Amino acid sequence: MSITNNRLSKEQYAENFSDIHPTFETADAALVEANRCLFCYDAPCMKSCPTGIDVPKFIKQITTENIKGSAHTIFTSNIMGAGCSKVCPVEKLCEGACVYNFMEEEPISIAKLQRYSTEKAMAANWQLFKRKNSTGKKVAIVGAGPAGLSCAHVLSREGIDVTIFEKESKGGGLMTYGIAAYKVTPQFCEDEVNYILGIGGIEIKYNQELGKDFSLTELKKNFDAVYLAIGVGVARRLDIPGEKLEGVIDAIQFIYEIRANGYSTVPVGDKVAVIGMGMTAIDAATQAKRLGAKEVTLVYRRTEAEKPCTDVELDIARLDGCEIIWLAAPVKIKGAEGKVKQLVCSVMKLGEPDASGRRSPVDTGETFALNVDMVIKAAGQVPFEKLVKKYRLENKNGKISLKDKAATNIKGVFAGGDAVNGGKEVVDAVQAGKDGAASILSYLRIKN
Ligand SMILES: Cc1cc2nc3c(=O)[nH]c(=O)nc-3n(C[C@H](O)[C@H](O)[C@H](O)COP(=O)(O)OP(=O)(O)OC[C@H]3O[C@@H](n4cnc5c(N)ncnc54)[C@H](O)[C@@H]3O)c2cc1C
Ligand code: SF4
Repeated sequence: MSITNNRLSKEQYAENFSDIHPTFETADAALVEANRCLFCYDAPCMKSCPTGIDVPKFIKQITTENIKGSAHTIFTSNIMGAGCSKVCPVEKLCEGACVYNFMEEEPISIAKLQRYSTEKAMAANWQLFKRKNSTGKKVAIVGAGPAGLSCAHVLSREGIDVTIFEKESKGGGLMTYGIAAYKVTPQFCEDEVNYILGIGGIEIKYNQELGKDFSLTELKKNFDAVYLAIGVGVARRLDIPGEKLEGVIDAIQFIYEIRANGYSTVPVGDKVAVIGMGMTAIDAATQAKRLGAKEVTLVYRRTEAEKPCTDVELDIARLDGCEIIWLAAPVKIKGAEGKVKQLVCSVMKLGEPDASGRRSPVDTGETFALNVDMVIKAAGQVPFEKLVKKYRLENKNGKISLKDKAATNIKGVFAGGDAVNGGKEVVDAVQAGKDGAASILSYLRIKN
């Protein structure tokens, strides 16, 4: 067993990491699907979208071949509507709420229709929003992820001059550095950021890290308001023996390297265990397989009924050939010569429901061992607690606390996205950015 990179040919990497989303092959195919929509009054699909996209309206606009209008409807509520149409877990949001589910028919392919309109808009570079005249106000945003970009776009529309400070060399946040490349390709992420910046009035300063290259005090002095959209950090520690062995890695770091450095550069084991069952765990497992690992096993301490990922995501992992072991909690990583050799797990059973309402795993006292050479930790992410505490921001274990929808305890400083909620989805971060912009506009006494 060994951990090596460059396991596949250039063509195999390209195939394994190509976009998994089929598009409508013809305009007629999109029209047929759009015409299935019942254009429900008080539409449940719209209510279940965290950004409140007017789904029946944008679908109706497709039926009348008003694609520009359709894209405008989507982007008005969600400037990352193109990216969300690729990464949103729609089966638990809009498509899961579509009335067709109650008629035991396939729901409307809302995401695919959304992709149809927004991709056309991006390809043609239709700039559908006009920036108002400058108000002379300046806002600093820290983090160019979905929350930061969404906040920036709303503020720029209102004539605010926005400067985003981003510690990486590209924008998009976890869209660019976290989510699996076969869901959103690197090229798409770059195109989406450029499309958002197309409105003007937003400058991104890359390779600029809060707490290292500049301070919150400086931002407060130089800008009229500050929005913190720094997301969350590395994977949670397992706190089990053997965690420091060579071959134990953080899922976020693993995925970051795939996205930042290219597929062939990232080493992967022959036999890989992934701990966790959220979106990060699935993305790490499927990408380990697509990088050429021979066996990948997902280990989760509860059962399928309590899993945090969606059925669709689990199906992707299964189709990629990943094995799944339910009711197993890691207790020890065994090694030889400093390298991972085995993951030892306790067999669990389900007990009483915990605070999350899900039945909690209870140790049966039995154990088993998996022979592996790589262990990927994906049991949740930890907020940037040190940074948040350094600037005396009120917080709960590093998650920034808010007074209203976006104001922190420091006057003129606002926050949103994963940095506040501890890690949800892109669409939640986009809505948080809109809420942040609304609070900032009200603080600056600018009507929108
Ligand atoms: C592996 C993985 C898979 C996921 N899959 C999905 C999915 O399929 N669908 C989905 O909807 N969601 C998914 N998510 C969640 C989604 O990516 C996040 O909820 C979303 O990106 C949060 O947006 P954000 O803007 O709050 O934070 P982020 O996207 O994390 O952006 C924060 C930005 O701030 C920057 N930053 C951080 N600290 C500093 C600092 N000190 N100074 C300057 N800049 C800083 C970061 O570099 C980053 O660009 C996934 C997350 C992970 C980790
Ligand atoms: S619930 Fe389904 S049918 Fe009704 S408006 Fe939404 S997409 Fe159309």
